[in-house]
Amino acid sequence: MKTPENNAIRAQFPILSRQVNGKNLIYFDNAATSQKPQSVIDALSDYYSRYNANIHRGIHTLAEEATLAYEASRHAVQEFIGAAMVEEIIFTRGTTEGINLVAYTWGRKNIKAGDEILISGMEHHSNIVPWQILCQEKNAVLKVIPVLDDGTLSMEQYRDLLHERTKLVAIVQVSNALGTVNPVKEIISMAHQFGAKVLVDGAQSAVHLDIDVQDLDCDFFAFSGHKLYAPTGIGVLYGKKELLEAMPVFQGGGEMIKEVSFELTTYNDLPYKYEAGTPNIADTIVLKTALDFIKSIGKEQIRKHENELLDYATSQLESIPGLKIIGQAKEKVSLVSFVFENIHPHDVGIILDQQGIALRTGHHCTQPLMKRFGIPGTIRASFAIYNTKEEIDSLIAGIYKSIKMLS
Ligand code: PMP
Repeated sequence: MKTPENNAIRAQFPILSRQVNGKNLIYFDNAATSQKPQSVIDALSDYYSRYNANIHRGIHTLAEEATLAYEASRHAVQEFIGAAMVEEIIFTRGTTEGINLVAYTWGRKNIKAGDEILISGMEHHSNIVPWQILCQEKNAVLKVIPVLDDGTLSMEQYRDLLHERTKLVAIVQVSNALGTVNPVKEIISMAHQFGAKVLVDGAQSAVHLDIDVQDLDCDFFAFSGHKLYAPTGIGVLYGKKELLEAMPVFQGGGEMIKEVSFELTTYNDLPYKYEAGTPNIADTIVLKTALDFIKSIGKEQIRKHENELLDYATSQLESIPGLKIIGQAKEKVSLVSFVFENIHPHDVGIILDQQGIALRTGHHCTQPLMKRFGIPGTIRASFAIYNTKEEIDSLIAGIYKSIKMLS
């Protein structure tokens, strides 16, 4: 059903009025990247049309305007995730770069032979591979919290895996493959009892859940702008100030220095210490526009609408013979992953694309998780604020059509 408010929201997304293969686009690949509202598209054009300049260095008006807008975005992010200080907000290219930054700097300084890093069985590759590389280099041990049949984490086994050798827990808040919301606050508090630091992968959670990094008490939190209505190429790494201050630098270059001589370089204060070179100015500025868009609707309203879509889609999908939903946690975001016993996910995806329905099929960069469930991949429909129940009806009709064609 399209509510009047939902119509007004849909009208802000120009891409939703395009046709794909002769059909109205139905976009259900929001966990991969969300579509962008007109305000975001306009803000990008406005920056390049009116005040494109390099930041922090120039004394001219354009440079000052760009710098102010860039730093305003940092303040908006601070508020969005409840950080105590604006210096704790580091701009990155995305979640992947944020996690790699922590692995490369904090990890290389603090992880020693025999130390343990604990991740979970539902991590995205970007929260597996950087720790694997670090463990190989340092002779440290990577341990994994098992995933239960319903797609939740075994908290019992997590408790058993934690001990004094655990130096870091790197955990996804919301699974991109299953939609499971993990109890990260509890996970963090348990890790801290053993003196371990905790990095939260917030790539999927930041758009759906209220994030308060102080309340969570996480040590690091990484997310990407493009999954929350902002452009690609801009992300955020939050870190507690004392940790960011003590960590060695990441990339060397302009902006991250205080003074350079051939003998010795001193480094800039936070957050610039981790932002070497000319940053992604335009997309960083526009990240604030995307956060303003979310604020204008309200996270509570977003969650309410998306939960209705999730409940509706789940009940409709469950009624399809031979369809199995993977991941049935009580706490989920608006994402459903499913499989058929005798039909390959890609084949369904291709037929749905012919109906104008965009969704994701495959392993979703979570190959170990797919292996855990004994499947090559899933079909994943993920919903955003602009989706409707009518679109879900079209998905269900498209699935019946696929079954007919492929059986
Ligand atoms: N973690 C999770 C849970 C994700 O869903 C993604 C994106 N699919 C990432 C990390 C990586 O994000 P990015 O590609 O934007 O760096």
